[in-house]
Amino acid sequence: MNKSTKAIHTKFQRRDAWDALQIPIYTCLAYEFDNADYMSDVFCGKVIVPDYSRVLNPTVTHLEEIVANLTGAKEVSAFNSGMAAISAMIMCVAQAGKNIVTSKHLFGNTYLLLTQTLKRFGVEARLIDLTNLEEIEKSIDSNTCCVFLESVTNPQMEVADIKEISKITKKHHIPLIADTTIIPFTQFDGKELGLDFQVVSSTKYISGGATSLGGLIIDYGNYPEISSLIKKDSVFNLGGYMTPQAAYQQIMGLETLEVRYKRQAESAKKIAEMLEKTSGVEAVGYCGLESHPFHEVFKKNYGEEAGAMITIDLKNREACYDFINSLKLVHRATNLFDNRSLAIHPYSTIFGPLPEEERLSMDIKPTTIRLSIGLEDPEDIYEDLKQAIENAQ
Ligand SMILES: *Cc1c(COP(=O)(O)O)cnc(C)c1O
Repeated sequence: MNKSTKAIHTKFQRRDAWDALQIPIYTCLAYEFDNADYMSDVFCGKVIVPDYSRVLNPTVTHLEEIVANLTGAKEVSAFNSGMAAISAMIMCVAQAGKNIVTSKHLFGNTYLLLTQTLKRFGVEARLIDLTNLEEIEKSIDSNTCCVFLESVTNPQMEVADIKEISKITKKHHIPLIADTTIIPFTQFDGKELGLDFQVVSSTKYISGGATSLGGLIIDYGNYPEISSLIKKDSVFNLGGYMTPQAAYQQIMGLETLEVRYKRQAESAKKIAEMLEKTSGVEAVGYCGLESHPFHEVFKKNYGEEAGAMITIDLKNREACYDFINSLKLVHRATNLFDNRSLAIHPYSTIFGPLPEEERLSMDIKPTTIRLSIGLEDPEDIYEDLKQAIENAQ
C-alpha cells in the first residue's frame, strides 16, 4: 500500500464491538480484567493490553500504529505536545556530565530546554554550526550523548545534511535525533536518511486545522536501551502521554495530510516566486526556490516539495509592524501549517523575551516575517501579502 492509503486503512488492533468505521475515542481511564493472574500479567508487562489510560489507550495506540506503518519505525510513542515528545526524548539520552551537540538555530522552547532547563541537571548544550561537518566532528567527544538537529530551522531556513551527519554519528555510535516537524515524515524515509529517532510536533501538519496539540517520538530501533526508556521512564514516569481526544483529531488529520501538504507546498512555491519579484521585499527564504542557499541539500534529503513556511525580510522593524498591522486575510498568529494562512514577526514575539544579543546570535532578525501558507486560493493570499507590503513602504 502507498502512504496515502496506509494513512486511511491501517487496521484497528481489535475489531470495535459495534464495527465503528472510525476508531472510537476511548475516554475511559481504567480497564477491567477477568481474573487476578491475567491482571498481574498485564501490570507486570507480560501481556500488553491497556490497564490505565495515562500509559496505554486504544485510540492513542491506533495513531501510533498508523505512524509506525507510514514511517517503517520500530515503535512510535505519542505525547501531549511537541515539547513533551522532545523533552521525553532528551531525558532518555542525556544524564549529568553528558553533552548534546546541536545547532544555535533551534525552535524557541527547545533552545530554552537545552540551554536552561537541562543545564540545571548538569547537561551541556553545544550550539554549533551543523552545516559544517568538520565542526560537528570536532565537537563530539566521549561524553556526547546525541546529535540533535531540526530538519529545516525556523525561521532561519537552514538545512543540515542529515545523510552526511549520520555517517559521523554512526562512526561514533551516538544517536542522531531530528525534529522533523517542518517537513512531514510521509515526505521522506527517515531510516534511509540515517536518523535514529525523529521527534515531531504533530500539532502542526498532522493535526491540520490546528485542532489539537500533539507530539511523536518515531524510533527506528537502533538503540534498544534508549527505546526501553521511552516507554517505561518517559511515558510512565513523566506522564506526558497523548489524550485520546487529541489522538482522534490527529488521526483525522493524518488521513488528509498528503493532499493538504501537496496543495500547501504548491501554493507556497508559487507565492515565494511572486514575492521574490515584489518590490519592498528585500529577501525571501524558501527552500523550494532555486536561488535558496540550501535548495540542493533540501532536495537531496526531502525531495522536491518544500513545505508551507516562507520568510520575507522587509527594510526594518517598523516596516514589519506595518506589514503585520495591514493584513486582512492572513491571520496575525503563531502556529504553522494551519489550514488558514498565518503571519508572525518572530523577533518581537516567539523570541521576544530573549536578550537582544542572544536573538542576534541565533540569527533572529528584526527584519524577518514568518509566513505559513494555508489552503486558501494562492492568488488571494498573495494579493493580501502584496497590499500589506505596499502599506509597509
Ligand atoms: C511547534 C514546534 C515545536 C513544539 O511543538 P508543540 O506541539 O507546540 O509543543 C517543536 N519544534 C518545532 C520545529 C516546532 O515548530
